[in-house]
Amino acid sequence: MYADVILPVPIPKWFTYRVEAEFQEQIGIGYRVMVPFGNRKILTGIVAKVHPKAPEIYQAKAILDVLDDFPVVNALQIKFWNWMAGYYCCHIGEVMNAALPSGLKLSTESRVHLHPNFDPEAPGFPMDGRELLVLETLAKHDEMRVEQFEQILPGKTIHKIIKSLLSKGAVLLYESVKEKYSPKTEHRIRLAKKFLTEENQLQDLFLELKGKQKQEQVLLQYLQLIPVFQKPELNDAGLLKNVLTDAGCSQSSIDTLIKKEVLESFRVTISRFEEQTVGNDSITLSPLQQEAVQEIHGQFEDKNTLLLHGITGSGKTEIYIELIKEVLDSGSQVLLLLPEIALTTHLVFRLQKVFGNKMGVYHSKYSDNERVEVWQGVLKGRFNFVIGVRSSLFLPFDSLGLVIIDEEHEPSYKQFDPAPRFQARDAAIMLAWMHQAKTILGSATPAFESFFNAQNGKYGYVKLDKRYGNAELPHFHLADILKDKKKNLLKLDFTRILREKIQDALNRQEQVLIFQNRRGYAPYISCEDCGWIPQCEHCDVSLTYHQYQEELRCHYCGFKEKPPKACPACGSHKLTTVGVGTERIEENLSLLFPEARIARMDLDTTRSKYGYQRILEDFGAGNVDILVGTQMITKGLDFDRVSLVGVVDADRILYFPDFRSGERAFQQITQVAGRAGRREKTGDVVIQTRRPDQLIFSQIMSGNYTDFYQQEIRERKQFYYPPFIKNIKVTTKHKDYKTAENASLHLKNLVTTIEAKKIVLGPEKSLIGKIKNLYLFEIWIKLEKSVSVQEYFKKELMEKIMELQAEKKFRSVRFLVDVDPF
Ligand code: ADP
Ligand code: ZN
Ligand code: ZN
Repeated sequence: MYADVILPVPIPKWFTYRVEAEFQEQIGIGYRVMVPFGNRKILTGIVAKVHPKAPEIYQAKAILDVLDDFPVVNALQIKFWNWMAGYYCCHIGEVMNAALPSGLKLSTESRVHLHPNFDPEAPGFPMDGRELLVLETLAKHDEMRVEQFEQILPGKTIHKIIKSLLSKGAVLLYESVKEKYSPKTEHRIRLAKKFLTEENQLQDLFLELKGKQKQEQVLLQYLQLIPVFQKPELNDAGLLKNVLTDAGCSQSSIDTLIKKEVLESFRVTISRFEEQTVGNDSITLSPLQQEAVQEIHGQFEDKNTLLLHGITGSGKTEIYIELIKEVLDSGSQVLLLLPEIALTTHLVFRLQKVFGNKMGVYHSKYSDNERVEVWQGVLKGRFNFVIGVRSSLFLPFDSLGLVIIDEEHEPSYKQFDPAPRFQARDAAIMLAWMHQAKTILGSATPAFESFFNAQNGKYGYVKLDKRYGNAELPHFHLADILKDKKKNLLKLDFTRILREKIQDALNRQEQVLIFQNRRGYAPYISCEDCGWIPQCEHCDVSLTYHQYQEELRCHYCGFKEKPPKACPACGSHKLTTVGVGTERIEENLSLLFPEARIARMDLDTTRSKYGYQRILEDFGAGNVDILVGTQMITKGLDFDRVSLVGVVDADRILYFPDFRSGERAFQQITQVAGRAGRREKTGDVVIQTRRPDQLIFSQIMSGNYTDFYQQEIRERKQFYYPPFIKNIKVTTKHKDYKTAENASLHLKNLVTTIEAKKIVLGPEKSLIGKIKNLYLFEIWIKLEKSVSVQEYFKKELMEKIMELQAEKKFRSVRFLVDVDPF
């Protein structure tokens, strides 16, 4: 019997091991095992396959141990990992790393053992004094951690010594296994068992306690809360100590009773998730929503994936709820993917009200232990329904019936780093397919890829173009920044119309959202006399000025420094800030509207676990009049009192150097505009731009997605962009500029020889040419869309990369492959 094992090493294949008789009963797909790897290493991996076929080219080693009594992952998950590794050009070990919450991963600490076959008397291996010392110490212990030796042999030489001992065959190195997950427990107390059996025992006890009033009180209070003779099972669960102290009992008397073994203190494992109460769910679908549900059912007859294109406020959530209920009732599981920051909004609360305890939430800000509990909740059937961020794709589902991807156009569904660099929307569709489940993509502004697939019939398509309750779409105003500037009407970056609208809203005690997609105070500072701009020492970017902490910061590597008092290039004191970030907008607003209460929501104000939630709650409670924020405020906010949305600088979004910048601008502006005036009130949206004549603005204002799409898609076709081709980007990274460039050039030459219909562009310096002292070059491959061509090409590509890495001069170059990059 043999087992193929996935190991956490960057090697693109499985390793086959022999399964000895003692483990044959206990092993199967998804079990964790310990195996020898290389000459003297031991690793833990996951069994992907069990079979009778011995490997042809090497002698299989035996599995050393099986770690689980139940599989931790199922066969479908391994199939999914395998697909992901192939599609996104990475190693399955890397997918495994991303998939398992670190609480489930085994932490490996290197341990040193004496080699069982080592004979210290044997000649031929001269040992020096320090080596002998290590061997002597080891002989007294079973095994030791490498760090423990550092105490015996101070200095940095211990690794060298161990390496030398390894090469002489004197010791073995183990990666020892330690579970990381720890369950949450609480201390409870209960009456000791001996008092339960006979009533006179208890009477004796009271006699004994006579005069000790406080202890008596504890006992009486306990018996009052827990009638031990009528309901002995209640005593098993006992009480939290503070229930008694809250009732006025003395803490020290409780402790005394525990010491006397009258009460016993014990620990129980509890869930990290509070019980959710299911609310009274009285919502009925509107006729339009009902129609949509019917249509979805109809199209699912012959389509697996469907695009639900519903404008902001059209009530997609209630449609999801209806469909989720049906699938859960049929006994299947449901996964709802949300972008990171939508996870603390009203949508989650709404769903929690309907589904209560059946619903698990998988958030990236959760602790490892919380994640393990969601994982186990899915495994054990507590959570048949999970809403979560992109990594929830990896949960151990075994019978998905429906996968919903809300806000499917969101760029945050793409994982940039590290590998697997996957797009969660696309991966979710594959996952659903493996489960024979249906997929719904929901958006007010679909990704072009999705709309393209809906247009050509690959996906079903259902449209909702009315807001729920016929709430009206907001009124748009275009504000011309340059015109106002000329007439001296631009004050602190705000045009006259936006200032007036804000004042009106404040007068009516309504709320305002101000959108600026740049955090910090100013994108950079610059010397007015010589043009000097401070740059990051480690990256090829200018430093962003953060006024609040009085700092210049690099947004790529975290480097920070105090801004100089004078220009280091020419000595001038005329250093001014250039450009506008959220901090500056916040400051400007407080100068323009001194009476308004202003808050800011961006990466800097939401780093803590509940930072985001706190700001939203404050805003929802009406403690804030104006909320300034980055794209964080464009998602899922639903507040009645927001009557105005201002976009400070639409051009910043439009002129990003990327073929998707138009699509992005349309999505972001439409989404943030959708926050204005829901329900009865019609809202206002003011967009500030230097080029109000651009077509995209009239398309956004009339909500004409289709026109916009058709015009953009023509250009994509003409210039070979997705969705007409597949993009693959390969970045080379090295501390030496020339080496990075050369590796990229060599790779391009090799890739060009692969037989496939393609265009290879580059090498070119990356948009940010240096990050953390490493230079970056990239090549872009535009590849024919056929599946077989892609598979062939990717395999060849990985081989070419390995070929290059085998060359001495490129050995330390990192090659990062990104399939469907953004
Ligand atoms: P979307 O996600 O499509 O932008 P939402 O699902 O947030 O829209 O719905 C918009 C608003 O309409 C929400 O405040 C929601 O509570 C309300 N709503 C939607 N459907 C119903 C319904 N059937 N009954 C009552 N309120 C509804
Ligand atoms: Zn200067
Ligand atoms: Zn930097």
